[in-house]
Amino acid sequence: MSDELADKLEIYSVAEDRIVLVDPDERSDDEWRRELSEEAFRILRKKGTERAFTGPYNDNKEQGTYRCAACGTDLFPSESKFDSGTGWPSFFRPVSDANVATEEDRSLFRRRTEVLCRRCGGHLGHVFPDGPRPTGQRYCMNGTALDFEPAGSDEAEQE
Ligand SMILES: [Zn+2]
Repeated sequence: MSDELADKLEIYSVAEDRIVLVDPDERSDDEWRRELSEEAFRILRKKGTERAFTGPYNDNKEQGTYRCAACGTDLFPSESKFDSGTGWPSFFRPVSDANVATEEDRSLFRRRTEVLCRRCGGHLGHVFPDGPRPTGQRYCMNGTALDFEPAGSDEAEQE
């Protein structure tokens, strides 16, 4: 395997319905600052949290895919969204475990599991083990860290 291929990431593509190889997105803070809104930069790059009930998508019930607002990686299917009552968009599973990374977060005096975009390392939110069936997981996301792509809005119209 060449070095170039070794640097690739395996990411699940919803449009292609398969694992694809992509380059990690390693843009610098300066580059991200130019790309993202101030609030999105604070959340995605500085591990911030939007105030509950203030971000987008909390009440969104449309069919489609939630993507990383920074690099566009597919993250959560609308089928896994549920009303957690927390004020943040909540999901019981990502489109694929390949697309998110998790890390232990010991800030705020308690142990939590941080959820990051696998491709760009952007901070998305946290995952808690108190979600609904079938996974029992609650991915509590900052809506500002997500971009919603309605189903059928590109060529790959789903049934
Ligand atoms: Zn990303």
